[in-house]
Amino acid sequence: MYDFNYYQPTEIRFGRGKVNEVGDAVKRFGTKCLIVTTPEFPEIAPLYARIKKILTEAGVKWAHFDQVQPNPTTENINAGADMAKDLGAEVMLGVGGGSSMDSAKAIAVEATHEGTAWDYLFFKTPPTDKTLPIVAVTTTSGTGAHVTQVAVMTETKSRTKSAIYNSIVFPRVSIVDPELMVTVPEHVTASTGWDVFCHSFESCIHTNKSPYIDLIAMGAIRLVVKNLPLLLNDLKNIEARTEMALADTYAGLSIANAGVTLPHGMGMAIGGMYPHIAHGETLAIVYPAFSRFTYKSAIQEFASMGRILNPQLNNIPDEEAAEKSCEEIDAFLKKIGMWMSLQEKGMPEEEIPELARASMVLPDYQNNPRVATETEMLEIVKQSYRY
Ligand code: NAD
Repeated sequence: MYDFNYYQPTEIRFGRGKVNEVGDAVKRFGTKCLIVTTPEFPEIAPLYARIKKILTEAGVKWAHFDQVQPNPTTENINAGADMAKDLGAEVMLGVGGGSSMDSAKAIAVEATHEGTAWDYLFFKTPPTDKTLPIVAVTTTSGTGAHVTQVAVMTETKSRTKSAIYNSIVFPRVSIVDPELMVTVPEHVTASTGWDVFCHSFESCIHTNKSPYIDLIAMGAIRLVVKNLPLLLNDLKNIEARTEMALADTYAGLSIANAGVTLPHGMGMAIGGMYPHIAHGETLAIVYPAFSRFTYKSAIQEFASMGRILNPQLNNIPDEEAAEKSCEEIDAFLKKIGMWMSLQEKGMPEEEIPELARASMVLPDYQNNPRVATETEMLEIVKQSYRY
């Protein structure tokens, strides 16, 4: 337990107004910058304009690739890489949620290597240090992508979601400015906030966990449980936005050094087959079945998490608290409006076996305290289909 490594090369600039430092951050790596975002809409337009103005004033020439779609595709990355090459980009700037930041990372690889970013997935050829440096401005709380070595993307034709996983795509600098998050709509706030909870908890039960991860990940869970319901009552609550941004950062640091487990492996499979289901939604769908499948193999961690959700569980033994934590997860999902099933999200029932197989492609399920067999995975998918 006291034998662990910890690596985190990202410089984090956290706090209200920190976006003003984006020109300074980008300029350290070059003066030709590709800004990577989802398409403009009224709430986000002022941020895009502000960043462009700051870059221009810093003497940075920029182009804007604004065609990232949520759950970005390899086609998005191809188009962004073409634009990066046309510009002669020296540095990438991802502005947005995980989709924009991951796209910036993948474009940084594709624009500088043979083939496409998909050729550099975690089990294929590792990207080299030709990869362009990445600066991130996160606007959701969130995926932790601003502090991870992961770039997730989907290949539409094979209905597969996978990732580049390499230290070269850690952002060099990340700006976490909670003021940028007050425009995130209610459901995206809930869905991305739930993702923070999942990153934190899965890091705690991961086979790579360490005392350091326990500390920051459990801290992140406390922050989510306190602040996410507050935020959903008042989306402009800047204190709650700030604490959620902190939780997101702790959770990102946790997954960068421990990792995720069975729910994320399943969530990636769901996202690959049904890209209309948001990442946080995929996790909400599988958590009730995952928790009941797993809790007996991680009694301490489930008990601790359950007691954060409901302090009354402090009065009962660990085994009982761990079991009851499953009901507490259900209650929290209902409270934040994230109680949902695969059926409700439009998945065809006949694809259950295919989804079960796809859930065992990424290695995440093997890092779960209880490793599912094929039969057990099929059962978990069936349970997640209809509640
Ligand atoms: P997202 O980036 O897809 O954004 C969701 C929606 O919110 C988009 O329409 C976006 O335009 C909008 N939005 C973002 N910021 C906003 C703001 N400030 N105001 C108003 N609207 C805003 O969502 P996400 O959950 O942050 O990212 C999901 C992606 O990240 C998935 O592909 C997921 O697999 C990936 N992911 C990556 C990592 C990693 O470590 N790299 C970890 C977890 C998930």
